[in-house]
Parts: sequence; C-alpha cells; structure tokens
Amino acid sequence: MSQRGKIDKEIIISGTNTGGIPVLNESHYTTVIDYDWRENRVTCRGTIAASSETLTHGAIYEANPQINGVIHIHHRQLWQNLMYRVPTTQENIAYGTPEMAAEIIRLCQEDRLEEQQILVMSGHEEGIIAFGQDLAKAGNLLLSYYWQLQSS
Ligand SMILES: [Zn+2]
Repeated sequence: MSQRGKIDKEIIISGTNTGGIPVLNESHYTTVIDYDWRENRVTCRGTIAASSETLTHGAIYEANPQINGVIHIHHRQLWQNLMYRVPTTQENIAYGTPEMAAEIIRLCQEDRLEEQQILVMSGHEEGIIAFGQDLAKAGNLLLSYYWQLQSS
C-alpha cells in the first residue's frame, strides 16, 4: 500500500516482500523520492527496497491528481468475481512492468475507473488495486466489495 507524499513524485510505500507480514511497522515502509515508469526507474530513501509495484502506484497518482492512497491486495475469490465487472488490465501484461504502468494510465482515462476506483489485473493472479482520496477510503472500498461477496 502507498500514500502520496508531500512533494511531487514522493510516495510512501510498503517495502518488497512485506505482503505476508500480519502487522507492519515503520521499518517495513520506504519513501520513493523519484520514479519514471517509462524508464522503469525507482529511487527510494529507506532501509528497505520499494515494492516491485511502485511504478503501478506511481502511474495511478500521475493519472489522478485527487488520489492520495493506493492499496494492492491479492484475493482469489474477489479477483475472479470482479474481473471484467470493473476496469481490468489486459491478460498479457505482467505486474511491476512499465507496460503495466502504461496500461493503468490507459484505464485511468476511462470514466468508469474514475468512478469505481478499483481495478483488476487479469495477468497478475489474484491482483486487485483500489484507490481513493485517502487510504481509509481505498480500504473501505475494498471491504465493501469483500462484504458484498460474502453476502452473495
Ligand atoms: Zn501483487
């Protein structure tokens, strides 16, 4: 997960391989100070390397100036349920690549994504991304889809 920083191109993001840790503390986060998704380049300041999906997060911030929080989760049931019901990336695009960043930017230009603020990565198994004006909104959005699924 990540939060937009205070200056341009700054992102506070969870580090690589932190997905399985139940409770995160500050040592699990790093500050990205610059990135360029076209060149597949990320510069960060911190003791842990940034998530391999930094460029994907960066693309969302770049395409949506009003978005300040992004959460990426893995959930098989939700992934299957939401695929093609919400904006979905093309199957042949791998996660963490400049191609994925470009694909996200393309999807962000669709009105539907601006409204729904959730997308499925069809080529990244179980991968879902939600975003919002802040992290709480992104988290609540994911939870509302999760509860919908549980009650259906
Ligand atoms: Zn992932």
